[in-house]
Amino acid sequence: MRPQALVAALLLVVPLVAGCSSNSAPVPLVTYSSPYAPPPTPTSMGPSPTPLPPPELLLSATDVYQAGAILASVTGDLGSGTVTFLGRKYQLTKGAQSLYAFLSVGTEDPPGPAAIKVDFALKNGSKGTLTADATVLKTQWTVDALDFTEEQTSTLLDPKLVAAENKLLADTYALYTPEKLWSGPWQLPVQGAVTARMGEQRAVNGGQPSGHHGGTDIGVPEGTPVIATNRGKVVMVKQLAVRGNMIIVDHGGGLLSGYAHLSQFSVTEGQEVDAGDVLGLSGNTGLSTGAHLHWEISSYGILVDALRFTDGTNGF
Ligand SMILES: [Zn+2]
Repeated sequence: MRPQALVAALLLVVPLVAGCSSNSAPVPLVTYSSPYAPPPTPTSMGPSPTPLPPPELLLSATDVYQAGAILASVTGDLGSGTVTFLGRKYQLTKGAQSLYAFLSVGTEDPPGPAAIKVDFALKNGSKGTLTADATVLKTQWTVDALDFTEEQTSTLLDPKLVAAENKLLADTYALYTPEKLWSGPWQLPVQGAVTARMGEQRAVNGGQPSGHHGGTDIGVPEGTPVIATNRGKVVMVKQLAVRGNMIIVDHGGGLLSGYAHLSQFSVTEGQEVDAGDVLGLSGNTGLSTGAHLHWEISSYGILVDALRFTDGTNGF
């Protein structure tokens, strides 16, 4: 690897947490019944209103890897609700049949038991709570061993520029649109070999592995069409110092996807896109030493492993 590549790799090691995608319609593996008592049995003949089913919490999985995500859905006559998981709070977003949230596990969230708590309000005003137990599993991160001099890291990029770029991305990934924009399975944005997994660590000059690669690198020739992983709205089309030409798509409910190092843009900010629509062409812009796509998914500002949205390991 040339020095520039090493530096690029290091600069892209951002301890971000969040994101996820799926291959198929969410199929709950586990159902947790609400603690509510069943409605009373009618005691007279005559017409009585059909009782509404009690709220239920459905989870795509209860075992989730670091940098994975759980799709939590709550059915029932809910008006609103929040989910608390790993010390973070998520708004429930209205989906087709239920309210939902993608619960993200960060690269640095500790393995072990993790409770899921839903606080909800029914449309009739009554409030309640649903709980479930999940387990965070340890991800075995890949490690890239690099050798380079301190001079090589300090001369290529202005730290202020890098800080400004990181802030812009953090602000964009913090967007929450209270509307489900995605629909159906999540797609790979390009077809190619994965050259660096999300969460990959770097061991510099024989040191301890540290940091986590914030996205998935897929090697493809320059000019390869890059498609939207799912339906959404384009919220950022920008030339950046490190990530080069980058597009971010908002899928609603706090979930966004990012596509970096592009050679060409095919969409503009504010444009709505369907899954599979071409966003731009892959390239080698920014701090990159070979044509590839750097693909990110973020949920509530936490970068998560985008590949887990397409390989079924998140249970959706
Ligand atoms: Zn990358």
